[in-house]
Amino acid sequence: MHALVGEQLLAAWDRGSRESDLARALTLLTVSSPERTRESVAALSLAERDLELWRLRQMTFGEWLRATLPCRECSAQMEFTLDLSSVIEPLERLRLSAPVAPSERQVNGWRVNVEPATTRDLEAALRMPDQSSSKQTLLERCTSLVDPVGAAARWSEAPDAVRDCATEVFEEIHEGAEFTCAAACPQCGAVEMADLDIGRFLWFEVRNAAQRLLREVHELAYAYGWSESAILAMSFHRRQNYLAMVRT
Ligand SMILES: [Zn+2]
Repeated sequence: MHALVGEQLLAAWDRGSRESDLARALTLLTVSSPERTRESVAALSLAERDLELWRLRQMTFGEWLRATLPCRECSAQMEFTLDLSSVIEPLERLRLSAPVAPSERQVNGWRVNVEPATTRDLEAALRMPDQSSSKQTLLERCTSLVDPVGAAARWSEAPDAVRDCATEVFEEIHEGAEFTCAAACPQCGAVEMADLDIGRFLWFEVRNAAQRLLREVHELAYAYGWSESAILAMSFHRRQNYLAMVRT
């Protein structure tokens, strides 16, 4: 994996602009790791995908992340700052101590095996017309069932107790999937637990950085007649120096 800069930053932005949030997260990871296929990234569990997105964020935009969100009590903007190592290191430790693996239970002679959901599973669930069929699709895709005589069984054949057990295990596996951090409101003092969706957050940063880079390309191309690829191939430092000369 490498940082998203120059041509790759623009490629990720260009492609992601036409995509859903789920697909964008895959685009950011595949553009930054061209050795991996989109299919293999889509097969990562959501926890693994998010860990990769945090790493990509650290590589591309550095160690410190500053975000704002409105206070739910008084709607003042609250600002909070995160040190990314303090996010990534615990996630890595967690993964080493409890690798993301299927979880098995027995209930009334049935074996219930639940795997962590992937992007593919979420995409399939989102294609369903309503929330309850979405949830069911997600559970069905992540669960494998073996009946009391040892035969593989379908979700629709399982008794309620077995389905309830699968639902419970699924929820346990995905508990704490959202990254939350505490922020105190400067206006009213309320403490909020903010959910930070790293995929969406990183996409907004990529979009802003790409638009800034496009303006720089435009300025330099206009001033010197250089090609887009030549300007994108320059180091950040060199580009900023030319820009400073153009702007004086
Ligand atoms: Zn407040």
